[in-house]
Amino acid sequence: MSSGKRQPEQPSRAHAQAVWRPTDLDGLPIDPSERARNQAAEQTFNIRIPKHYLSQIDWDNPRDPIRLQTIPQAEELLFDPRELTDPIGDRAHSPVPRITHRYPDRVLLYPTYQCAVYCRHCFRKESLSDASDQFSEELLQPALSYIAAHPEVQEVIVTGGDPLILSNQRLTYLRTQLEAIAHLRMIRFHTRVPVVTPQRVDQGLVQALKGRLMVCVVTHFNHPQEIVPACKDAAQTLREAGFVLLNQTVLLRGINDDAETLKTLCRELFYTLGIKPYYLHHCDLTRGLTHFRTTIEEGLDIMQKLRGYMSGPCVPQYVLDLPGGNGKIPLGPSYTVGKEGHSYTFRNYQGKVCSYQEVVPQNPPVKQSDPQSESDASQQK
Ligand SMILES: *Cc1c(COP(=O)(O)O)cnc(C)c1O
Ligand code: SF4
Repeated sequence: MSSGKRQPEQPSRAHAQAVWRPTDLDGLPIDPSERARNQAAEQTFNIRIPKHYLSQIDWDNPRDPIRLQTIPQAEELLFDPRELTDPIGDRAHSPVPRITHRYPDRVLLYPTYQCAVYCRHCFRKESLSDASDQFSEELLQPALSYIAAHPEVQEVIVTGGDPLILSNQRLTYLRTQLEAIAHLRMIRFHTRVPVVTPQRVDQGLVQALKGRLMVCVVTHFNHPQEIVPACKDAAQTLREAGFVLLNQTVLLRGINDDAETLKTLCRELFYTLGIKPYYLHHCDLTRGLTHFRTTIEEGLDIMQKLRGYMSGPCVPQYVLDLPGGNGKIPLGPSYTVGKEGHSYTFRNYQGKVCSYQEVVPQNPPVKQSDPQSESDASQQK
């Protein structure tokens, strides 16, 4: 399955307790000098590592991809002045609390600002650190009324935070409230739960989510080492429930910024879990993520090594989310080399340059010439 060195289902039990506070890191095999170096970062942003995810770390590898996503590092406090506290303009497009409405037919809904894991690379890091407020039916009312009053909204993307940390009872409440809004057709959940606490995905969860609306679950796997048998079981439960499964990955320097790692990840997602790789996100301009961010050029170079070399459905769309709420930009690479009128020059996935002549209807239309009548006409001359 995964390329991880350790047997995933045999975690080293000594280090398998969940981490919720900086002091919980004391029990982990982290070098004291390393702890001292990262101390300020440990105190600044939320920390949470559930037991399952923690047990997948290979402590012999200081660059372990799960370790890098979960254990605070001093670099998180190196803010570049060009980075932003609201990197993709969630607040700029929030008409009522707990809603972001940027695109015409779909909204983001945040029922909670808590997560099952706090990712060091989180794009909403600062809004999550601010928010102490938890789920409550009253706090959701303005958001539900807003959706009900906007018939153009067909899909609600439940995000956060992580909606799947809510109890089945709360999820059932949320789902039935949304189902009562007649113009809604789809409910989409953005979650890391199937990655970090896959045991949470069971029939109880399925019953809470399943109803009138089509359900889509978008997971967030970043590295093949995260894909272990428990995740396969979780994905199977969701697929058998009839849910559509997609995945988004964040392109992260030193974690998954090479074509081979991403190819393995995407194939495992599609072939083992039955999850379609949807987006590959360029790392947002969130403050303190400089050490994780690649350049766009590096991202494009990786994408060029994916398309054509791996099954089409395995290839995610590389996207950049613009600051200020200006939305997502699909990033190339571009396969168009030149264009003159209806003559195009393309570069194929192997780099071969190919020309293509587009056939378009002509005006006035050319009468279909019948080869028989043409030869008749020439004989008349
Ligand atoms: C990313 C995002 C969406 C979802 O975009 P899709 O392309 O439909 O996945 C919707 N609203 C906001 C504000 C977003 O940032
Ligand atoms: S699960 Fe998502 S919202 Fe939560 S910390 Fe990770 S990236 Fe941020």
